[in-house]
Amino acid sequence: MSTRTLAEAAAEAADCTKCRLAETRTQVVFGVGSPSADLLFIGEAPGMHEDRQGVPFVGAAGQLLTRMLEGIGLTREEVYIANILKCRPPGNRDPQSDEIDTCTPWLVEQISLIQPIVIVTLGNFATKFVLQTPQGITRMRGSVYRWHDRKVIPTFHPAAILHGGGEKSRQFADLQEDFELIKRTLSAVPAPLPVVSLAEHAQVTVPEPDDQLELF
Ligand code: URA
Repeated sequence: MSTRTLAEAAAEAADCTKCRLAETRTQVVFGVGSPSADLLFIGEAPGMHEDRQGVPFVGAAGQLLTRMLEGIGLTREEVYIANILKCRPPGNRDPQSDEIDTCTPWLVEQISLIQPIVIVTLGNFATKFVLQTPQGITRMRGSVYRWHDRKVIPTFHPAAILHGGGEKSRQFADLQEDFELIKRTLSAVPAPLPVVSLAEHAQVTVPEPDDQLELF
């Protein structure tokens, strides 16, 4: 099976014209962060600032996400941040279902290249796409779901907090609780076992042909 790197996929996505959003976007917002992150965040779609800068979650909602990450001892560089749609819908309207169908193969490729252990879905669009559920985010949040050998933690979209009750709201307290759940879930992930390649193993345990000649 031939695979390519995340950078190669991003380079191809940069010219994507598979849906109508190509006509109105400034640029494709593919994703940002570590290509081998254990933790992947999935938002909805780029907004105006993201469309201008080509980086997801750089506006007000992004600043809240960055602060929430810092609150659990993580930086944006250590995680990966992507969206359901890679291009800004005009006027920040909701993603349309044909746009989601057309765009999400990029996200599926990102997940298969990054191989995150924990996926956090921010808001309804990401949660419904990943977990294929009709349930809204208020019902889904607060739990860890198993999905293709990974763990999925749905939580509120940071923009919903900003447009809702702000940092004094019940939703913000729930968001903080969900980030603690993310932290606990990540720390429960077993450390990777040391890899011993077969070649190294052979050198340690199997005599080289020349040595064998000496032995016998
Ligand atoms: N909201 C999103 O869902 N994604 C972004 O990148 C920015 C705001």
